[in-house]
Amino acid sequence: MEQQMEDKDDEAKRIAKLTEFFGERGVKEICDACGHLDWTVAPMTSLFALTMFPVPRLGGKDGSVLDGRHFQPVIVTACQNCGFVRLFSGTVYSQWQAQKVMEEGDGV
Ligand SMILES: [Zn+2]
Repeated sequence: MEQQMEDKDDEAKRIAKLTEFFGERGVKEICDACGHLDWTVAPMTSLFALTMFPVPRLGGKDGSVLDGRHFQPVIVTACQNCGFVRLFSGTVYSQWQAQKVMEEGDGV
């Protein structure tokens, strides 16, 4: 029970930081597909999730995959109304977080 409370607190902090990041960087809250303002992520219950997205390296003469072991950290958001999914680079977000820590000593 107590662990669940801590998880919720941590999640609320992460969501607050991501919201601050999106706000500072001018990310539109309105869904590009349907115009709604209600974002979430599946299958988690939080508004945003950081996960890994496969980015296979192409390079064969026929466009084939040379190496499928590369992954890019991404933040996944999905519109609650229409399901439109947006991906944001977790690397850019991490750089912003590091900059915040240097400026404010305020990281998550
Ligand atoms: Zn939508």
